Amino acid sequence: MNAPLNIAMPKEASQAPKAYKLLIDGKHVEARDGRTIERASPGHGFVVSRYAEAGAAEVEAAMQAAHKAFETGPWPRMKASDRAAVLLKAADLIETRLEEIARLDALESGKPIAQARGEIGGAIDIWRYAASLARTLHGESYANLGDDMLGVVLREPIGVVSIITPWNFPFLIVSQKLPFALAAGCTAVVKPSEMTSASTFVLGDILLEAGLPAGVVNILAGFGADVGAPMVSHPLVEMVSFTGSTRVGKTTMATASNSLKKVSMELGGKNGQIVFPDADLEAAADAAVFGGFFNAGECCNAGSRLIVHEAIADDFLAAVKTLSQKVRVGDPLDDRTKVGAMISVDHMEKVAGYVTAAKTDGGNVFTGGARLASNAGQYLDPTIIRNVTEDMAIAREEVFGPVLSVLTFETIEKALHIANNTPYGLSAGVWSASIDTCMSVARSVRSGTVWVNTFMEGYPELPFGGYKQSGLGRELGKRAVEDYTEEKTIQFHRGQRTGWWVG
Ligand code: NAD
Repeated sequence: MNAPLNIAMPKEASQAPKAYKLLIDGKHVEARDGRTIERASPGHGFVVSRYAEAGAAEVEAAMQAAHKAFETGPWPRMKASDRAAVLLKAADLIETRLEEIARLDALESGKPIAQARGEIGGAIDIWRYAASLARTLHGESYANLGDDMLGVVLREPIGVVSIITPWNFPFLIVSQKLPFALAAGCTAVVKPSEMTSASTFVLGDILLEAGLPAGVVNILAGFGADVGAPMVSHPLVEMVSFTGSTRVGKTTMATASNSLKKVSMELGGKNGQIVFPDADLEAAADAAVFGGFFNAGECCNAGSRLIVHEAIADDFLAAVKTLSQKVRVGDPLDDRTKVGAMISVDHMEKVAGYVTAAKTDGGNVFTGGARLASNAGQYLDPTIIRNVTEDMAIAREEVFGPVLSVLTFETIEKALHIANNTPYGLSAGVWSASIDTCMSVARSVRSGTVWVNTFMEGYPELPFGGYKQSGLGRELGKRAVEDYTEEKTIQFHRGQRTGWWVG
């Protein structure tokens, strides 16, 4: 039995919760009916933030502001170099406020502070990358259509974009969308998760300070039904960029289809790491633990299925178990913490329910499996379940907690079958010293990303997104700005037009 976690209360616990107003048309405003949402730190239990809660009136005001900024404001019309300058300034300002933003994300989401710092650092890199793409965005010209014709294909900003984000990477995910929309010249209404809105509000302030004109970015805190849904159906919106669960993603797509809005969907995952006997097993064991327990497993990319060759399963899993038991779980604000708190009690119970069901289905809890006692907050023990079979819920559904399911194989065909036997297709990993094995797996796995002898790295240059029910479209990469554009074909005719239709 582990000793109860002793969570120290940070200075914020004895202060009033930080208050955040909505950002609409460049102004900070309270909700008209005065409603607010309180967010308690999942790692500590005290109320850390209070956001003004948007409703229908605020959605309408934000949409009108974004529409006005798009139709008549300077942002879509200015030189790309000027837009890039604002994005670069924003990146610099994020850097100066990195510690503050990381602390907000850690306090509101329960993620470890050291990891949060890394995420904000990654986000800064993305803002700078998007600035560079603003300047290279271009269309095409066709001078091969005959002497009297010039075809020009313009890339124009698509219009007002609704951006809806989840709670697990609050600042990083908005940074995978917003800078590219802005680089293209779009305007936006942004809704962060109702549980983790603070860092997005700080981003709003940073953008105004960086020189973004009023109304280009509007930020609303609120719940999915009251704010997210009308942001998807609103007639002034041209595109919806959504990251969240596959369940809500499907609803969002259905709603957006009523008015044929463009959608970008980054959804759930049930990702497998396949380990072959010839791999660097020490590195693979570390990556198995990292893949399973990073961000407490509350990660779309979590390597939640460990698919291990039977010949090495016992020894390899013993090493994985030893490492798992060394993972430091605890206070999100402690620099040494690797696994912080679970986002909510409800979610923790859902994850614990999967573990219980796995046991009923014949799974064997190899390590962990319990809620951790603590003086504050909600924590789960990193858990490994063996004897998992492909038909079990824990092997098929996104658990979104620190739970690693182990399946075994004897042939590469079987490994691939297991890896692909899920409705999801976000990412996968393969560990082997053989280039043939690695290439076979990488080519045959149906997922948007495959890591070969590494796991869960990310670069702004590399597109990210899912196959199957893990999403639609790609974020990041050199085409990320193009996603927020429409193509317009212009045909220039020179001289007198010939070949008239009516003689
Ligand atoms: P969620 O789907 O519950 O919520 C996501 C966002 O949608 C929130 O802002 C929420 O308020 C909003 N929302 C809820 N109902 C809505 C509705 N009817 N209309 C419009 N918006 C609505 O997801 P979550 O629990 O916040 O996040 C976890 C999920 O996100 C996991 O499934 C995870 O895999 C996924 N995710 C995917 C990626 C990726 O890049 N593929 C990244 C991070 C998280």
